[in-house]
Amino acid sequence: MYIDTHAHLNYEDKYGDIPSLLSSLRAAGVDAVVNAGWNYASSLLAANMAKEEPMLYFAAGVHPSNLADLAQGDYGRIAGLLSSPKGVAVEEIGLDYHYGGADKEAQKRAFCEQLELADALSLPVVIHSRDAAEDTLRILKDNRAKLARGGVMHCFSGSPETAKEYLKLGLYISFAGPVTFKNARRADEAAKAVPADRLLAETDSPYLAPEPFRGTLNTPENVALVYAKLAALRGEETQALAERIEKNARTLFYKMNDEKRENGHGKV
Ligand SMILES: [Zn+2]
Repeated sequence: MYIDTHAHLNYEDKYGDIPSLLSSLRAAGVDAVVNAGWNYASSLLAANMAKEEPMLYFAAGVHPSNLADLAQGDYGRIAGLLSSPKGVAVEEIGLDYHYGGADKEAQKRAFCEQLELADALSLPVVIHSRDAAEDTLRILKDNRAKLARGGVMHCFSGSPETAKEYLKLGLYISFAGPVTFKNARRADEAAKAVPADRLLAETDSPYLAPEPFRGTLNTPENVALVYAKLAALRGEETQALAERIEKNARTLFYKMNDEKRENGHGKV
């Protein structure tokens, strides 16, 4: 009943035995997780995990804070991974001015290159933007033609006004643990303002565990707490919201449906 649209279970050693983690997720009502890469190696691991585990999908790309890992030929290798039926998005890409790391020009270049990659592969993008809303928005506006398959602002914590700018570009807005934090008034307002057909939810595990588990190792099981908080903020039933978000996720990550059909699980 719950989908976690963005997590990193591809952290070796963080989660121990993955099959037993996944069986506890299923018991808690989580039926699908999009496992996101942050460089080629983690994308490859996510792709291999998705081959083994029916409930796992994956996304591949290079995070703005991991550009030091970017090697010659990586985009081609990432494209190769994404030819798998379970590779659903180019992710995670964008700009992160919080941690410094790669300089801004290098980040902008890699962002544009991966928007182009997603367009060439006819896949949606999952965008990370931290302390960089102005540049993120400008690059997305300049590259609007490359967003034909859409995208999502992941772990959104901006204002309703910023959310509106992304919505105008046809993007989805995804909320994670921070929406449950006590000081999250701005994200709370944004969560109320996003139309139901553009809303997504995620954990960003292993980071950002929601309340009351803030500061501990996050797992996709906690996505239920994000759903509950979003439902409370919006005055909706959690179950109805979960169904809506699953439909949104399967619309954006359209290969999830193809993959189900290929495996003979019938229509969604
Ligand atoms: Zn992430």
